[in-house]
Amino acid sequence: MSELVLDVAQLRASYGKVQALHDIHLKLERGSIATVIGPNGAGKSTLLNAIMGVLPAQGTVRYQGRSVERWSLEQRVMAGIALVPERRELFSTMSVEDNLLLGGFRRLRLRQAQPLDQLATVFDLFPRLKERRSQQAGTLSGGERQMLAIGRAMMAKPQLLMLDEPSLGLAPRIVKEILHIVSELRTAGISVLLVEQNARAALQTADYGYVLELGKVTLQGESAQLAGDPQVIQAYLGFG
Ligand code: ATP
Repeated sequence: MSELVLDVAQLRASYGKVQALHDIHLKLERGSIATVIGPNGAGKSTLLNAIMGVLPAQGTVRYQGRSVERWSLEQRVMAGIALVPERRELFSTMSVEDNLLLGGFRRLRLRQAQPLDQLATVFDLFPRLKERRSQQAGTLSGGERQMLAIGRAMMAKPQLLMLDEPSLGLAPRIVKEILHIVSELRTAGISVLLVEQNARAALQTADYGYVLELGKVTLQGESAQLAGDPQVIQAYLGFG
């Protein structure tokens, strides 16, 4: 039987009196990609932030069999959970390489991991970043900035990588390139939770999908099955 890297049950989160997540159940198998699709404001970012521990939530979050809901953000990072936020949050006046090294710094300090080894791994994954290693992050294209944001999260050697709308604002060709790299992560054994408004691209990339609407999972299934579901087609895939 395949192992679960993430097992979320009855997860709830609120902003004041407004409940943003209602009893979410979600599972992610090791080495697989699950996507969460849904409209603006459905609670997708809230879900990732709750799993990461940057937002208080109720319910259980089991990561590699351990309940982590009381763990601090730092403990979750150290255990191998990483989040690439929607606003890519790079240090724009610093070089590509320094942005990456900063991503590995916390781990270096606490565990004496080898950031230069991991830098080489990230450069293998994103040769474009290697070519531009000395360039200021603020001068990169949108696609390159997204690559850098993912690369920086990879510096902490995550086993669970959560991506919040990596396709946002990018041309279709670049989206394809980035999602291709995301599927390569799976072959390296990294499990990915991918939040996307671009349902078509997300379902093509992921193994399994969840539809989140108004803070509730309204549909779920194998990606291919969801992509053929009339409700999903009508609401999220449209024509063409
Ligand atoms: P988007 O794709 O637009 O980012 P989303 O699916 O990620 O949407 P969330 O950002 O998680 O949705 O928002 C879920 C709900 O919670 C929305 O109704 C939103 O207005 C609300 N919300 C999000 N952040 C806050 C906040 N800091 N304070 C109050 N309400 C918030």
